[in-house]
Amino acid sequence: MSKFIPLSIPNFEGNERKYVDDAIEQGWVSTGGAYISQLESDLANFLCVENVAACQSGTSAIHLSLVEAGVKPGDVVIVPTLTFIAAVNPVRYQFAEPVFMDCDESLCMDPVKLQKFCREECDYSDGVLKYKGKPVKAMVVVHVFGNMADMEAITEIAEKYNIIVIEDATEALGTYYTSGKYKGKYAGTIGDFGAYSFNGNKIITTGGGGAVTSLKKDVVDHMRYLSTQAKDDPHFYMHEEIGYNYRMTNIQAALGVAQMEELQMFIDRKQSNYETYKKEFDNFDLARLMQFRDGTLSNKWFYSLKINREKIKTPMKEIILELEKCGIQTRAIWGLINEQKPYRHCDAFEIDKAVTYRDCILNIPSSTNITKEEIIFVSNEIKTLLNSLT
Ligand SMILES: *Cc1c(COP(=O)(O)O)cnc(C)c1O
Repeated sequence: MSKFIPLSIPNFEGNERKYVDDAIEQGWVSTGGAYISQLESDLANFLCVENVAACQSGTSAIHLSLVEAGVKPGDVVIVPTLTFIAAVNPVRYQFAEPVFMDCDESLCMDPVKLQKFCREECDYSDGVLKYKGKPVKAMVVVHVFGNMADMEAITEIAEKYNIIVIEDATEALGTYYTSGKYKGKYAGTIGDFGAYSFNGNKIITTGGGGAVTSLKKDVVDHMRYLSTQAKDDPHFYMHEEIGYNYRMTNIQAALGVAQMEELQMFIDRKQSNYETYKKEFDNFDLARLMQFRDGTLSNKWFYSLKINREKIKTPMKEIILELEKCGIQTRAIWGLINEQKPYRHCDAFEIDKAVTYRDCILNIPSSTNITKEEIIFVSNEIKTLLNSLT
């Protein structure tokens, strides 16, 4: 097969061109226009929430959440180490201090260690948790690859210690609880803030874009205000605060409105493709497909194989390069953020599972438009390769 099978590419099967053309024809291409409010209301309806603000990226959604949460220079923000660095950088935009946390088997933040960190490493008095004398103001919880972090345990800890929860749901649009305390609740709508991304590799895309949600209308309105340079009025250019150029454009939103029409179809395909992979890797001893949390229905955005490191010692890079030769694009999970240059000096709490997963997770082609034949081809090539490496 000479075909190249990519990891995760966008899918424009719907009204994308029509709506983008329409936006151009109307002349509304920038940060004003009807598609922006349409996308906000489509997202709000889908997520069963009242208030959504569309913005330029997932990163800006996280940054606006931190600003709105009142995170200030010198505050501590708890973050995961095994994730995309965009979940952490906005903490530094606020000159706050990240403290890195380990993951659990879901690849998301480990609530057991989180609890242990709060109890053993911090002091709690007068409603403020302090780490080395600095207030632990917030945490960023990432729903990795569309899996749900253990929000029941995490929100309990957050409530106990008065920590603001920012959900990085950039990879998890559409994931929700099917049972338990949060039954029916979508990733991003459980904590104090939820951030979504519509970057090109995410489950829906606006090219680049994002959205942020929160329970209170005035909070989301204020984030929208900050995202438009904190401009108070259209005529006199009065500003009460320092704002940002973080608003989504109408062109992006036109794409987004079309993509929202297809979101459920994308999720259905991700789920059925996952089942095909799962069948292929059932009973395969050298790698198994990572599962999603029980009691949730995941959007299954990104599929991960866990390589059996007792039997396969070959470095991930070699595996990736070998598969590339067969036209199959794969990748390793991320490098641990607390080991990367900008964050090496920061504190990290008992990181060990993240190290293990960093060395054994291989992400495999997950696009919505991958065919069943391609999935079987990919699976067979991976199995053949791994068999040859034992
Ligand atoms: C994609 C992503 C982001 C950032 O989203 P952008 O829209 O690219 O800024 C943040 N966190 C995680 C975990 C992501 O995967």
